Amino acid sequence: MRTLITGGAGFIGSHLTEALLDAGDQVTVLDDLSTGRWENLAGVVDRPGLRLVRGSVLDAELVDRLVLGADTVYHLAAAVGAFTIRDRTLDSLRTNLHGTEHVVTAAHRYDVRLLLASTSEIYGKNDKVGLREDDDRIIGSPTKSRWSYSEAKAIDETLVTAYARAGLRAVTVRLFNTVGPRQTGRYGMVVPRFVGQALADDPLTVYGTGDQIRCFCHVADVVTALPALLAERDAIGGVFNLGSAEQVTIGDLARRVVALTGSHSTIDHISYQVAYGDGYEDMMRRVPDCRRARELVGFAPTHDLDAILRDVVAEQRATPRAEQVLATP
Ligand code: UDP
Repeated sequence: MRTLITGGAGFIGSHLTEALLDAGDQVTVLDDLSTGRWENLAGVVDRPGLRLVRGSVLDAELVDRLVLGADTVYHLAAAVGAFTIRDRTLDSLRTNLHGTEHVVTAAHRYDVRLLLASTSEIYGKNDKVGLREDDDRIIGSPTKSRWSYSEAKAIDETLVTAYARAGLRAVTVRLFNTVGPRQTGRYGMVVPRFVGQALADDPLTVYGTGDQIRCFCHVADVVTALPALLAERDAIGGVFNLGSAEQVTIGDLARRVVALTGSHSTIDHISYQVAYGDGYEDMMRRVPDCRRARELVGFAPTHDLDAILRDVVAEQRATPRAEQVLATP
């Protein structure tokens, strides 16, 4: 199998690259190294089946050529992270709209199977416990830059759905707070930030009340499900939530990280205004219902939150990264 992974040097993409090389695929990674790093692929860089291409999904000709040479495409390249979306809103929109359009149209042109990595941000402020794939989106005003990521990804999904009706063989996955080794806190993600802060004995920065609820899923569990879904005939044309059902408040997450690391850190509360700037809106709860993926490919996360945190702590203890420790955004 010749596989193209856009964003293959990123956090999730690098884990997927390793898994598919292990499965015997020939893997081409396309990455512009905006948030990805070749270091993420250090463990597999000598594998004969791996080809690294530095370039952007905004380069339509390059995308066309690489998709033409592939049997399967995993489209993971995207501008990600709350700070990225806030600070580079326009670039993020371009990447997440035009870049995806290039990948999707090329996959359709050459009849190559496509997996689109979408996001739980799609649901916006819908705080139903057990969000289903057909549930409504509840999105704030376009004047609030946070929603631009959700909007762009929703258009991406709409595009894929329309091309699927025109014959594209595609699967869309919505990822809910995927975490684990190699995720950086630099762009806002809470778990690597808290762990980095705790290991440095810096204050943990809880935004808002800390009562907001998330479910964190280990990247290894997510990555196992992606090729399984793409190989499943009945998944083609479908949309699938992938995440954990274990709920935790961000305040409790901070306390668990402090306890697990034996840190002397305090836990500070920071207003959304200070953390993200004007007009930021957060969702108070985001909990997936993943029965569709469970019924079709047996999706069932095997790592609970403690196991996830232990992995992230072990990684950061072994390879501390300066950017994890940023105490303020
Ligand atoms: N968060 C926090 N402190 C941080 C980073 C994030 O309290 O240093 C909060 C953030 O406001 C959100 C939750 O943690 O409520 C998860 O944030 P993340 O950016 O990891 O993912 P999101 O669920 O917002 O996509």
